[in-house]
Amino acid sequence: IKKQGKNNYGIYSTYEDDNMANPIVLENDLRKALERNEFVVYYQPKIDVEREMISGVEALVRWEHPKKGLITPIHFIPLAEETGLILQIGEYVLRQACQQCVQWQRLGLPPIPVSVNLSIGQFMQSNLISNIQRIMNETGIQPELLEFEITESMSMNLERSIEILSELQKLGVHISVDDFGTGYSSLNYLRQLPIDTVKIDKSFMKGIPNDRNNEAIVATIINMAHNLNLTVTAEGVETFDQVQYLRKHNCDNIQGFYFRRPLPAEVFEQEFQHILND
Ligand code: C2E
Ligand code: CA
Ligand code: CA
Ligand code: CA
Repeated sequence: IKKQGKNNYGIYSTYEDDNMANPIVLENDLRKALERNEFVVYYQPKIDVEREMISGVEALVRWEHPKKGLITPIHFIPLAEETGLILQIGEYVLRQACQQCVQWQRLGLPPIPVSVNLSIGQFMQSNLISNIQRIMNETGIQPELLEFEITESMSMNLERSIEILSELQKLGVHISVDDFGTGYSSLNYLRQLPIDTVKIDKSFMKGIPNDRNNEAIVATIINMAHNLNLTVTAEGVETFDQVQYLRKHNCDNIQGFYFRRPLPAEVFEQEFQHILND
C-alpha cells in the first residue's frame, strides 16, 4: 500500500486525538449524547503486511460534542462501563459498523472486514448473542466480515468465556484478543479460547527495533500465535523501522499511525477508492 499523500502523514492529520477535548464527563452528559446521537464511529485501516493491502478496519467510537469538539473514548468509556451505558453505546457502534460495512459493499468496494470492540459489560450481558444476531440480521452483514475484539481480562472466568466465545463463533464472526500481552494468563488464555487473532498491545511497539526486550516479546508472541494457528496483528505501528521488523518476523497485519489514523467513514472511503484507482 502507498504511504499517505503529501499532507496526510499521521502527525499532520486533522483528525487526530492530540487535539481532542479532555472534559469532565458526567453520566447525564452521556445519556444526552446518546439521545442526541452525538457518538460517531471512526475507522482505522489494518494492513496485510505481505499483500500490502487493506485487510480490514477497526471501528473506534468518538463523541462529537457540539461545544467541546471531538472527545476521545478514554474520557467516556470508563464512565460508560461504570454506569452500564456502554451497552447502548456498544450496540450503537456495532450497528453503525455493520451498516457501514454493508454500505461499502453496495458502493462496489471490495469486502472490508470491520472489527468492533466489546467491553466487559457487553461481554457479560446475558443477551449478548441474541443482540448481536439481531443486529447482524437487521443490517445484513456477512458474518465473516465482522470481528469482535475482546481483552484478556474478560477471561477471568475461563469456562464462561469459552462458552460465550463458542456461541460467537457459531454466528460465523471472527474473534481477536486485543491488547495482548498486558494481561495475566496469556499463554493459558490463547491455548484454550476459541479465537482467530491476537493483537499485540501497542506498548510493545515502543523502541522496536532497538529495544531488545520489546523485540524479544514481539517476536515471541508472533511465533507462539502462529504455532497455535492464530493470525497476528500489531497495533501502534508508527515507524517504517517497525514495519520492516514486523515484516521480517512474519507478522500478518499491522495497524497504526504509520499508515492511517482512525478516520471518519467518508474520508476512509475516499482514500480507499483512491488507493484502488491508483
Ligand atoms: P484499542 O481498542 O486498543 O484501540 C486502539 C487505540 O490505539 C485507538 O485509540 C487508536 O486511535 C490508537 N492508535 C492507533 N494507532 C496508533 C499508533 O500508531 N500509535 C498510538 N499511540 N495509538 C494508536 P482510541 O480510538 O482513542 O481508543 C482508545 C480505547 O477506547 C480503545 O483501545 C478501546 O479500548 C476503547 N474504545 C474505542 N472505541 C470503543 C468502542 O466502540 N467500544 C468499546 N467498548 N471500547 C472502545
Ligand atoms: Ca481494539
Ligand atoms: Ca488495543
Ligand atoms: Ca483496549
